[in-house]
Amino acid sequence: MATATNRKRDAKNGTQFASFDLDPRVLAELAALGYEEPTPVQREAIPPLLAGRDLLGQAATGTGKTAAFALPLLQRLTPDAPARERTVALILVPTRELAMQVAEAVHRYGRALGVQVLPIYGGASMETQLRALKRGVDVVVATPGRALDHIRRKTLRLQNVRVLVLDEADEMLDMGFAEDLEAIIAATPAERQTALFSATLPPRISAIAAAHLRDPVHVRIDREMVPAGNAPKVRQVAYIVSRAHKKATLGRILDIESPVATIVFCRTRTEVDELTEMLNGRGVRAEALHGGLSQDQRDRVMKRFRAHTTDLLIATDVAARGLDVPHVSHVINYDVPSAAEAYVHRIGRTGRARREGVAITLAEPRERGLLRNIERLTTQRIEIATVPTVADLRAHRLEQTRDELRATILAGDLDAYRAVAESLMAEFDPLDVAAAALKLGGGRDGVVAEEEIPIVATRETGRGARPTREAGPGARGSRRRKDRPGSGALARLYIGAGRKAKVRAADVVGAIANEAGIDAGAIGAVRITDRYSLVEVPEEIADDVIAALQATTIKGKRVQVRRDRDGG
Ligand code: AMP
Repeated sequence: MATATNRKRDAKNGTQFASFDLDPRVLAELAALGYEEPTPVQREAIPPLLAGRDLLGQAATGTGKTAAFALPLLQRLTPDAPARERTVALILVPTRELAMQVAEAVHRYGRALGVQVLPIYGGASMETQLRALKRGVDVVVATPGRALDHIRRKTLRLQNVRVLVLDEADEMLDMGFAEDLEAIIAATPAERQTALFSATLPPRISAIAAAHLRDPVHVRIDREMVPAGNAPKVRQVAYIVSRAHKKATLGRILDIESPVATIVFCRTRTEVDELTEMLNGRGVRAEALHGGLSQDQRDRVMKRFRAHTTDLLIATDVAARGLDVPHVSHVINYDVPSAAEAYVHRIGRTGRARREGVAITLAEPRERGLLRNIERLTTQRIEIATVPTVADLRAHRLEQTRDELRATILAGDLDAYRAVAESLMAEFDPLDVAAAALKLGGGRDGVVAEEEIPIVATRETGRGARPTREAGPGARGSRRRKDRPGSGALARLYIGAGRKAKVRAADVVGAIANEAGIDAGAIGAVRITDRYSLVEVPEEIADDVIAALQATTIKGKRVQVRRDRDGG
């Protein structure tokens, strides 16, 4: 029975947030956020961090690592200390975007404790940061460059820092922050606790760990190997899409795929409820399934799903676990699951009994690392597809209209309409009459009132470490996508400032990531010469990047930016 299975698994994992020694107000906040249970990295990292141990964590974005380090440090606040001595935690991150995200997460988890969090990054007003620091900040989340600025000006005081977190340490090194990191670490008390998170552990990271971590606990979340034979044979597709466009993308995928029995997996209850509401609003029959429902309610939902009264089940892993789910045509991961094991478990719901199944994953640009992990562990390829455009959608709806018309004609019983058609055809061209009827028909009328969803570069480049992956054929074959942007072409840009102007690779990558709002991972090779710099960016956003860089300054100066004559 489902409940018994659920209970057994929970007991086996012993993994409720309540089993951690966290403040009850924080636990309540997690419940309100809809987190049903800790992710693997949280399960392994939170207890040692609470016990004061140093930690070396190998975990990519999307695994829940932010909460893994943020929740324990919330136990260390000193709200009664004088304002300028309140800073007990410093979290270093590679980019402005991540600084904001992490600061927001810490703020949310510690809201009930009244935690004061300040993101510090280049480009933001120094004045605002100074005012906040004066008022007293418990947790500072900073990019290395700006953190060092404040430390040197003595506006950021670290003498009471108890916890130092280096998040995405490999990225920070790749961006040229090694020296800055050393200087910042040296400015923190030697007896601090240190946690270092990195998606990869190249020798340079191991060296930092050896130098600055004391007897660290190692946490690797991708170690559970999935035996190749156990991974289901399912067509696997991923769409790379920004968070802001995920809901629209899901709606569009559902339109195009017309799935009959689909489970959409989400990370949190809150997400489950929001999506269910959104889809019902679009006329899709969707039902929510999460740990907040009683067993009775869950049974009723499942009954309707089996009877095909409901097309879509929107579920958390916890709720779907142990349930005897019938064959489903599609599994959609609204988020990349935080562990490969969960991914395999989810997609195992489809493709049963030798029927073709489809597993679709919506991944944010920053979650590409997780997709690669999953590919490595399952030894199966996940195609990267391009989000259907408005034109795709229109074509698809017209195709559906044609199918429906054909069926209607074949079914006959049209006498009542034939007289009208005849009289109109005496007056107009029969083709025009038919086309007008189609236009009037409403429903699948081919006029799509939707906005384009921006294409995110689908090619991994940069740092030459990984093989290039071209945009794969999409969920509906390659025909539609062949010549579309996102195909992986790179443009080389010339930036009229180089080493002599003290420009470093980190400045170029930072400026592009921050000003053009694109993922640093999408940026290709960077070359800094004495007088100028060259950088590769995805072709389809090259003009936007040029415009954004022309509108800003690099190292305080306006510089010339254009396509490089030889490379763009
Ligand atoms: P991160 O890897 O820290 O960037 O987290 C990825 C996403 O997972 C964020 O949107 C978090 O809100 C979410 N998340 C973190 N921990 C949990 C959890 N235990 N249950 C559900 N969602 C979570």
